[in-house]
Amino acid sequence: MSCWVGCPREGCDGDLRIRVGGTPGTPNVWYLPNGDPGYPGDPPEVWVEEVLEASCGHEFSDAELEALADDEWEILAEHLADALEAAEDRYWEDRFEAWRDQQRGIV
Ligand SMILES: [Zn+2]
Repeated sequence: MSCWVGCPREGCDGDLRIRVGGTPGTPNVWYLPNGDPGYPGDPPEVWVEEVLEASCGHEFSDAELEALADDEWEILAEHLADALEAAEDRYWEDRFEAWRDQQRGIV
């Protein structure tokens, strides 16, 4: 899975093709089978797996890629949700979309 984002370097208007990684996290567990209270799940996460191509030729450190994923998380989440839709994986897709809407403050 890959998508394009803008180069994060100051003053650079290059484009990067990145490979997107992500996890749908885990759902909240409200109750354990014995009736005890459960535990909260982990939210979905997205990250940049690698830069496949940079039109400007820049190279990036791991820290820069983390910052890029934080800045562009919405594009990455969108991309993963689309990829999951194509794979007809509704469960993951729903989790990514719900998370994205929550981050945007829609719900
Ligand atoms: Zn650049």
